[in-house]
Amino acid sequence: MDFGFTREEEEFRSEVLEFLAAHQGLNGYFHRGENTAEGVRKLYRVLGERGWLSLSWPVEFGGMGLPPAYEFILWDEMAYARVARPPMGPGLVAKALMAHGTAEQCERLLPGLRLGQINFALGYSEPDAGSDLAAVRTRARLISDEYVIDGAKCWTSNAHWADCIWLLCRTGPLDSRSRGLSVLIVPLDHPGVTVSPIPTHDGGRLNEVRFDGVRVPVGNRVGHENEGWQVVASALAVERHVQFPPKRLRRDLQDLITWVETTGLSRDPFVRRRLSDLAVKVAEVEALALALLGDITDGEPSAVPAAYHKLAGTLLVQEIARSAMEFGSPEALVKGTDVEFMWRQAILETIGGGTSEMMRGLVARQALGLESKA
Ligand SMILES: Cc1cc2nc3c(=O)[nH]c(=O)nc-3n(C[C@H](O)[C@H](O)[C@H](O)COP(=O)(O)OP(=O)(O)OC[C@H]3O[C@@H](n4cnc5c(N)ncnc54)[C@H](O)[C@@H]3O)c2cc1C
Repeated sequence: MDFGFTREEEEFRSEVLEFLAAHQGLNGYFHRGENTAEGVRKLYRVLGERGWLSLSWPVEFGGMGLPPAYEFILWDEMAYARVARPPMGPGLVAKALMAHGTAEQCERLLPGLRLGQINFALGYSEPDAGSDLAAVRTRARLISDEYVIDGAKCWTSNAHWADCIWLLCRTGPLDSRSRGLSVLIVPLDHPGVTVSPIPTHDGGRLNEVRFDGVRVPVGNRVGHENEGWQVVASALAVERHVQFPPKRLRRDLQDLITWVETTGLSRDPFVRRRLSDLAVKVAEVEALALALLGDITDGEPSAVPAAYHKLAGTLLVQEIARSAMEFGSPEALVKGTDVEFMWRQAILETIGGGTSEMMRGLVARQALGLESKA
C-alpha cells in the first residue's frame, strides 16, 4: 500500500493553498457568519471556472479525468481552512447522472454542475426514515408524463439556498421497501415545495422540505422507476473519500492547542499528555483516510474502510471538542468562543451521513462477519 501523493498531486496542493490564501475569511465549512451561503455559492462558481469541481469527471463529460487524489487534496485543504465542504451537485449528483442518467439529462445538467451554477440538496431522510432509508414514504405517482409528489423530507442541508433537490421517493407499493424507490430531480422553486428551517444547536440550520402536489416531468427521474436504491448506493460509494476530510481534525486540534496556549493551560502535564494522545489519534484517522482513498483509487470495495474512517474520525471530532471542557478552563464554556462552538457542533458529525451505530453495525456485519439476532 503506497500512502504517498505524486509530485503532480503535491504541486496541485500548492496551487490549492495559494488559492485559499486569496480566499480567506469565508467560514463555509460550518456556515458561520453573515451571508455565508452567498459566499459559498460564489466560491463554487469560482472553483467551477477553474475546473476544480470536475477534477475526476471523465474527459468525455467535460471533466479533467484526474485520479480521486486531486479531489481529496482539494476538499482536505478546504476543510483545514474551514472554507467550504464539497458540493453535492458536481460530486454525488453529477457522478450518478453519468452512471445512471440519460444523454438528455447529462446534456441539460452537467455543464451547470461543472461550473458551480446549479446547487443541489440531498432529500433522503424523513421523520420515520433516517437510518432506515428503505422506509421512505414521500410518494411520487406517475400521471401521464408527470410525477406528482406528496410528502416531506427533514434534516435537509442547504435546501434554503440550493436550486434543486435530489429526491429519494416511493414509486412502488408502500411495503416495497428498497425495491419501490426512485430518484427524482426537483427544482426547489417549483409550486408546492415549501422549505422551513430546523435550527441546529450549533446555531446553524437544517430544513424541512414539504411537497404538496408538486409536478415534475418524467424526464427528471434518474435511472429506472423503482430502481432508485441502486442509484443512491452507487452515488454514495463514489463520494466517500471527500465526505469527512481528515484535515478538519488537524485544524480542530490546532485550534485547541492555540486556545490552550493562550489560556496558559499548556504548562499543565495532564493537558500536554492529552494533547499528545489526540495528536496520535489524528494521525491514525489520516492513515484511515488514505487507506480509503487508496481503495477508491484502485476500484476496491470501500464501504468497510469508509465506515472505519467515518466512525473513528467523527468520534475524534467529539473527543477533541470535549477536551477543552475537560481541561477545566471556564473560557471553554463562554458562548460564541471557538472551543465552545466546536463542542456544540461536534455532535452533529456522528449523525449526518450515517450514525455511529449504523457504522458499527456495518463493520460488525461486513468486516467481522457477525450476524445480528433475528
Ligand atoms: C448535520 C446534519 C446534516 C444532515 N443533512 C442531511 C441531508 O442533507 N439530507 C438528508 O437526507 N439527511 C440529512 N441528515 C439526516 C441524517 O442522515 C439522519 O439524521 C441520520 O441518518 C439518522 O437518522 P435519524 O435522525 O432519523 O435517526 P434514527 O434513524 O431514528 O436513529 C435514532 C437513533 O437510533 C439509532 N439506530 C437506528 N437504527 C439503528 C440500528 N439498526 N442499529 C443500531 N442503532 C440504530 C441511531 O444510531 C440513532 O442513535 C443530516 C443530519 C445532520 C445531523
